[in-house]
Amino acid sequence: MDLIAGITRQLDALAAQSLTRRRRTADSPAAPRQVVDGRPMLAFCSNDYLGLAAHPKVVAALREGAELYGAGSGASHLVSGHSRAHALLEERLAAFEAPHLVDARALYFCTGYMANLAVLTALGSDPEAMIFSEALNHASLIDGARLARAGVTVYPHGDVAALEAKLAASTAPTNIVVTDSVFSMDGILSPLPALLALCERYGAWLVVDDAHGFGVLGANGRGALEHFGLRSPNLVYVGTLGKAAGVGGAFIAAHASVVELMIQRARPYIYTTAAPPALAHALLASLDIIEGEEGRQRRTQLAQSIALLDSELQLRRWQRPRSHTAIQPILIGANDEALQVAAHLHAQGLWVPAIRPPTVAPGTARLRVTLCASHTEQDVAQLAAALNTLEQKLAPEQLERNAA
Ligand SMILES: *Cc1c(COP(=O)(O)O)cnc(C)c1O
Repeated sequence: MDLIAGITRQLDALAAQSLTRRRRTADSPAAPRQVVDGRPMLAFCSNDYLGLAAHPKVVAALREGAELYGAGSGASHLVSGHSRAHALLEERLAAFEAPHLVDARALYFCTGYMANLAVLTALGSDPEAMIFSEALNHASLIDGARLARAGVTVYPHGDVAALEAKLAASTAPTNIVVTDSVFSMDGILSPLPALLALCERYGAWLVVDDAHGFGVLGANGRGALEHFGLRSPNLVYVGTLGKAAGVGGAFIAAHASVVELMIQRARPYIYTTAAPPALAHALLASLDIIEGEEGRQRRTQLAQSIALLDSELQLRRWQRPRSHTAIQPILIGANDEALQVAAHLHAQGLWVPAIRPPTVAPGTARLRVTLCASHTEQDVAQLAAALNTLEQKLAPEQLERNAA
């Protein structure tokens, strides 16, 4: 049993570093008040920022979609799995992002992970091309860059000058800059206007992964491009639909020629079964909400919760990145302390995940609080009070005193 022993050694090494991950099982829909492993919890961990995952209109549309189109798509998009629901969704998404793109077209994917693999492998298919990847990019962008034939160079987090030096020195026929819009583990925005200016100057693509911006940022919820007021033919936009849109899947919106290239060449698009059409049908209902008055109200509620958490938290030892988004991390540092804090919160019925390496850099283990439009003022105040108390209770000098 040497094979099994080898695996056990790897798992033991993870456990020794407090890096073992465990799943909790939800017994009710994604919502701040959720039954988890049979127990009622107040959750601050979902990316369902607008509270659409269990919205009655979206759930009804999913049911209607199943009646109209059945449960599954039956095949990949290029064979026979491309349904009217997918086509209508792509038209809606292209129109939604059109103010920020030139000759916009959209393409729906099963997941954001696959959309990112598709964009980078298709745009970066030439071994002579070069991908410029931001240091804090999401794992799916890192994997997409690895899978592409193009060369890859990583530029330091938020460092526009370092990126410019790399672009200026590049002799590649195709240059592709790729970044998260909202960094998923610290909630901070990428300097997209400066990046786009560079990309236009050097004739490079700017691929923006707006997983945490779509639906949330911008007055109309169009995301990071609307937030910054950007428009350019160099932009390739990736929006995901399992977070603020509450359902699942993702899309690319870009100049029609880019989308046509994806359809012809992107293996993560071509060689997979199309997502169930009912999901696309449900997403049309999500978009109705995001684009309408209710979406605006939900974005306002979310902004109020973000401001409230900021004013209620009184932390001295644990650091907080200057995030103005729904992602509100609390940097703790050591893996075991982050786990301890999460466990104390859990004992109080508060569900906040501890994020550890390799998702974040070693020594920067953190709690990742995410806020949703459906959190109440009391929810946010309860979390802040618990964190304020725990920081003091778990302080090293306090622990020694407790032991003495
Ligand atoms: C969640 C996420 C993805 C992946 O999207 P899925 O639809 O969940 O596969 C990609 N990029 C970022 C930044 C994300 O946070």
